[in-house]
Amino acid sequence: MSANGKNLTAPWHGVPREEIDWHPTVVAERCMGCGLCVTSCGRNVFAFNYETKKAVVANPLHCMVGCSTCGTICDRDAIEFPSPGYVRHLIQEKKILRDVKKTIRENPEIYAFRVKK
Ligand code: SF4
Ligand code: SF4
Repeated sequence: MSANGKNLTAPWHGVPREEIDWHPTVVAERCMGCGLCVTSCGRNVFAFNYETKKAVVANPLHCMVGCSTCGTICDRDAIEFPSPGYVRHLIQEKKILRDVKKTIRENPEIYAFRVKK
């Protein structure tokens, strides 16, 4: 699926997104339906249920692996994630840093720090 021309379910550093169990879960009993997570996530992970007046996770695979911003901003602690250890283990298991180092080395035109004048 895509939004704004970006494939939001693209593989993450070579790992198919559907093999990565990282996405938020809304604990309905604690959600007060403020809508902050729905309107803040830039990847359309959430939708709003106008009947129950609660946030729902509509597109879990759109979630950026390792991101937990919506959980941070939820005033009710109503958004849960797997443990950060899950992602760190995945990084080791899939040897992701090897791919990342290569990407950094080969793309200075994209990643080099430049002082703006
Ligand atoms: S930010 Fe929290 S309380 Fe507000 S809608 Fe999202 S889950 Fe519910
Ligand atoms: S963790 Fe980040 S990308 Fe995932 S749903 Fe929350 S705000 Fe969106």
